Amino acid sequence: MTCWSHTRLSAFEQCPFKYYLQYVEKRKSPVQGIEGFMGNRVHEALQRLYEGVMKGKILGLKEVLEFYAKRWEEKYHPHVRVVKQDTTPEDYFNEGISCIEWFYRAHHPFDRGTTLAVEKRVYFSTSFGDRFRAVMDRVDLEDNKIVIHDYKTGGKLSSKEDLAADRQLSLYYRAAEQSIAEGRPIELRWHFLRYGKMISLSGSEMMVEEVEKQVHQLIEVIESTDEYPPKLGPRCPWCGYSEMCPVYQDG
Ligand code: SF4
Repeated sequence: MTCWSHTRLSAFEQCPFKYYLQYVEKRKSPVQGIEGFMGNRVHEALQRLYEGVMKGKILGLKEVLEFYAKRWEEKYHPHVRVVKQDTTPEDYFNEGISCIEWFYRAHHPFDRGTTLAVEKRVYFSTSFGDRFRAVMDRVDLEDNKIVIHDYKTGGKLSSKEDLAADRQLSLYYRAAEQSIAEGRPIELRWHFLRYGKMISLSGSEMMVEEVEKQVHQLIEVIESTDEYPPKLGPRCPWCGYSEMCPVYQDG
């Protein structure tokens, strides 16, 4: 039985051919957009920060930024792709620093709750029986409530109304309910680091059942298809498979 993820569903929605290369043929993409590269490094830095918090050690902002810079240097590779014109890797490096600085200053001394886990991998089923996995950036216990945190370094700033119907958020809610909460209330906090904003939602504010229904319908479409046509779109320049894509190469 396929174990789904929000990322996997998004790949099909963006372009069935990309989905085919990534999830059916399981081809590796050497190319990575710099936005994703920067996001990974920021996530690593915040993971490091909270691993310290869990052991009772609060790293200084300077230490966290040094770790970020070290990982950037270690992991940078020739296939990191800068798509936007008039931007440089240094611009993205500095944007990552701004994200970490905002987060650090907004949450220091990191004692609002007790951190139970970072990069928490969870397997669960929707109410339609679809199997999923999710990786949560951070899980806290706060006033007997489970708080799931997600860090966003890219994309647009969502409104609370958008998030109420957000697929990733609803799936995280279901994952937490089944695997972590043990009957306790659940809150989801999305940190939009580039915008210096945090948005919180409780389970009662989310449209989990409606989202699960849409997810199930999408899975039925994917499972019944044996055609994966390329779908050109504005995000093709960021696609890790563009060099293997005849339609994009011809365009
Ligand atoms: S470049 Fe565009 S059309 Fe080609 S696989 Fe990627 S997303 Fe699909």
